[in-house]
Amino acid sequence: EVEASMEFDALLESRGLNRREFLKLLTAAAVAMGFSVSDVPALAQAIEEGVKKTPVVWMKGQLCTGCTCSSISTLDPGPAEVVLDLLSFRYNPTIMAAAGHQAQQAMEDTVKEGGYLLVMEGAIPTADDRFVVSGGKPVREKLLEAAANAVAVVAVGACASFGGIPAAGPTGAVGVDKIVNGKPVINLPGCPVNPRWLYGTVMYYLMYQEVPELDAYNRPKIFYGKLLHDNCPRRGRFERGEFLTDWNSDEQKDWCLLLMGCKGPKTYTDCPQGLWNDGVNFCINAGSPCSGCTQPEFYAAGFGDNRAGFSPLYAKQNSFALPG
Ligand code: SF4
Repeated sequence: EVEASMEFDALLESRGLNRREFLKLLTAAAVAMGFSVSDVPALAQAIEEGVKKTPVVWMKGQLCTGCTCSSISTLDPGPAEVVLDLLSFRYNPTIMAAAGHQAQQAMEDTVKEGGYLLVMEGAIPTADDRFVVSGGKPVREKLLEAAANAVAVVAVGACASFGGIPAAGPTGAVGVDKIVNGKPVINLPGCPVNPRWLYGTVMYYLMYQEVPELDAYNRPKIFYGKLLHDNCPRRGRFERGEFLTDWNSDEQKDWCLLLMGCKGPKTYTDCPQGLWNDGVNFCINAGSPCSGCTQPEFYAAGFGDNRAGFSPLYAKQNSFALPG
């Protein structure tokens, strides 16, 4: 045990952290996600054990790699980096050192061993298997093989969750849970995924060995339980009927963005509280309407019973009512 603990310390050191700094980061992350401070020692232990026992296999489908970039882009080593970087990434074609047959072998060995968390980034084409091929096999087939021995599947980003932007094209792109059956699938939609949602979900799983409570779209309620519109800093403007109509108007610069296409009234996310870019900002504070990227209606015509969709980006949704 002492040896394992020293190994973990060495791992932390290689990331420029000592145990005290690690606990400080973890405490900040845990509190932001609704854990109590008294949970931190157990959480730290779960992560330490998870590093040894729960490898991560990160597969890719139809994607722009934005979710990988979002997940590993932090300023100082933030909580996201600490948790995700420490977890044993056996396979992620974007960030792993190995390539070609060696990389495929690492993936096959891990799949044989089983007991890993499978992270899927990108949509899965269904119109023709040749659209995305990995290691000589259609990605749909690889996903089914990898999901069979995984403890759970985490679909990161809008594409892996609901088809996302690729679903607007001709490939018949769908999300993971349209392909994988009989395994817990956790959807973490967003374009891209917020690293907080990913490391928070992974931390929750390591701590409790079960998936967090999910909503009707398989999204963790801790991150996707609130309507953006109810927590928006421009909500007062909405109530007063002050809607931005001129991008160049100085007077209107912090007015409600509904008429410019904001999808906040139908979008469930904690963006206003948790923010982005290491807690710096989010779309609406930067003057951009919410595109609804955490919803299944993003980006094109929507799917299933909801054919309305959230396109176009800068047009008001007909179904959104004005106050009064
Ligand atoms: Fe905020 Fe958009 Fe709602 Fe306006 S419509 S209050 S900008 S979320």
